Amino acid sequence: PTPVVAVVGRPNVGKSTLVNRLIGRRQAVVEDTPGVTRDRIAYDAQWNGRRFTVVDTGGWEPDAEGRAAAIAAQAEAAMATADVIMLVVDALVGATDVDEAAARVLHRAKKPVIVVANKVDDARAESDVSALWSLGLGEPFPVSALHGRGSGDLLDVLLAKM
Ligand code: GDP
Ligand code: MG
Repeated sequence: PTPVVAVVGRPNVGKSTLVNRLIGRRQAVVEDTPGVTRDRIAYDAQWNGRRFTVVDTGGWEPDAEGRAAAIAAQAEAAMATADVIMLVVDALVGATDVDEAAARVLHRAKKPVIVVANKVDDARAESDVSALWSLGLGEPFPVSALHGRGSGDLLDVLLAKM
């Protein structure tokens, strides 16, 4: 079986866009309306000749009160089923309470966790990235899932942790 990478994070941070970038196809469901990603869809991918499976998560749009619980459940499921977990955060927004709820769960992960600082579309946005060390999950890796900036470096980091 190929290693499984689960992509988790709150709605609208760009999980499905990142999944499309990682698999090199436009296949994960991306809509401007949050909540349309079907739950836990797996895609085959490869990078530098190594195959892996990428799982997009999401699909619910709980109300504000339910979000921390929902993301905690999403993180628990990822820890149980994936070999590597990517926690995607919107670097322009910074770490929200919901991001921190996910991070608290992932602190217990016995598997590698990669903090992906998404929406770093240009050099100016790089300055927002280091604040995400506060999640306590190590170095945040800047990418622009939309434009591809940093995605090759992220895939290199992923392979090193698989
Ligand atoms: P999800 O709910 O986490 O799966 O997020 P989506 O992938 O559906 O993206 C939510 C919105 O953020 C969409 O409008 C995307 O086009 C936008 N988005 C995703 N990645 C980026 C990025 O790197 N930069 C910018 N500027 N927008 C992005
Ligand atoms: Mg999605």
